[in-house]
Amino acid sequence: MDNPKQVVVRFGEIWLKGKNRPEFIGQLKSNIEHALEGYGASVYYRRDHFLVDLEDKSKMNGVLKELKHVFGVSWFAPVAVSENSLDSILSEANRIVGRAETVRIVAHRSYKKVDFDSHDIVGEFIKKSEEAPFRIDRDSRKTLFVNVTGYGTLLFRRKIPGPGGLPVGSSGTAVSLLSGGIDSPVASYYAMKRGLRLSYLHVHGFRDAQEALSSKIPKIIERLSVYGTSVASYYAPFHVFQAATLRIHERYELVLFKLFMHRMADKIAGVSGADAIVTGESLGQVASQTASNISSSQSGVGTLIVRPLIGFDKEEIIDMAKSIGTYGISVQRYRDVCSINAKRPATSTNAAQVERLYKECGLDSAVEKTLSLTTMVKEGRAQPFTISL
Ligand code: ATP
Ligand code: MG
Repeated sequence: MDNPKQVVVRFGEIWLKGKNRPEFIGQLKSNIEHALEGYGASVYYRRDHFLVDLEDKSKMNGVLKELKHVFGVSWFAPVAVSENSLDSILSEANRIVGRAETVRIVAHRSYKKVDFDSHDIVGEFIKKSEEAPFRIDRDSRKTLFVNVTGYGTLLFRRKIPGPGGLPVGSSGTAVSLLSGGIDSPVASYYAMKRGLRLSYLHVHGFRDAQEALSSKIPKIIERLSVYGTSVASYYAPFHVFQAATLRIHERYELVLFKLFMHRMADKIAGVSGADAIVTGESLGQVASQTASNISSSQSGVGTLIVRPLIGFDKEEIIDMAKSIGTYGISVQRYRDVCSINAKRPATSTNAAQVERLYKECGLDSAVEKTLSLTTMVKEGRAQPFTISL
């Protein structure tokens, strides 16, 4: 096939969104444009799809690779565009289908103001098949798609699956709790898949933020940015919490730490206008992730906490981490805030009890103190995070 320089990009679910449709389409267009920056691509909106036009055909492979990561895209395909006439369609088909190939024709008319319909297209192919360099067989596994639109007929060979989901940004923003482990990057991926644009909050065990900034955490964030750019990332130190909970029985430290992180994320969500908090928790995956602990660790947190991995097995999460490219970074050695490795964490807690311990340790002021020591990275610049509530 002569190399095409155009790509049709179809969106799936956003088609259903009724009144909000223009916003979804606008968001998806701008996300595609962002993903294709530097490729010399123009993106045009056409009724039920986008047409991407490349200045340079040799950029095609790179463009197809990028489109695989843009949420909201259901499928895409490099296309040849012919005029809306049976003759032009046939001559374009002769150009793009290989000699002696056998294909099945799948014709569709999204634009009806032409004097032929999809049966006529297939009929014409059959009628002219004697002269054509390829053969027609409706049982062939190879396909030629012919789609008549208002601006011309699109001819293409295969639909490359996109990642589905909703355009990042179309569901608002969220603060994602990112650890050095395998799960939270996958949770972040799924949150973005449902249209949330993320900020990341990481609690680190280093002496200063500089060390955290040269750790693997920014690498995970960088990898995740392939699926959607983040609003900001926050690096909060662990030591204030650690000092405040020295006297607490280690069985309760983890559930307190979770509540502490959620309250911090709640404050960040409040000042940054985020709609949700995302975590990588999965029910019952480790001893501490019981329903009662999860419940105690969200008490008093006004912002919605979403846990996209709640129904996943660890193996499934690992497979996903591999396929989105975060696994290799997640398993690199990391100095996690691992003093919280109680051999037998409490598995059955209640909100009142955890709240009491929280107060006893003065964790409300530990949250304030930790936030005042937090470094925020926004648009590539690291700066102290200052909030005035
Ligand atoms: P992960 O693989 O994501 O670390 P996990 O299986 O180790 O998860 P937990 O240690 O119970 O499970 O952590 C549950 C969630 O709490 C994490 O997925 C993440 O969202 C959040 N979390 C844990 N530690 C940190 C941290 N240091 N900074 C920010 N968030 C964290
Ligand atoms: Mg972890």
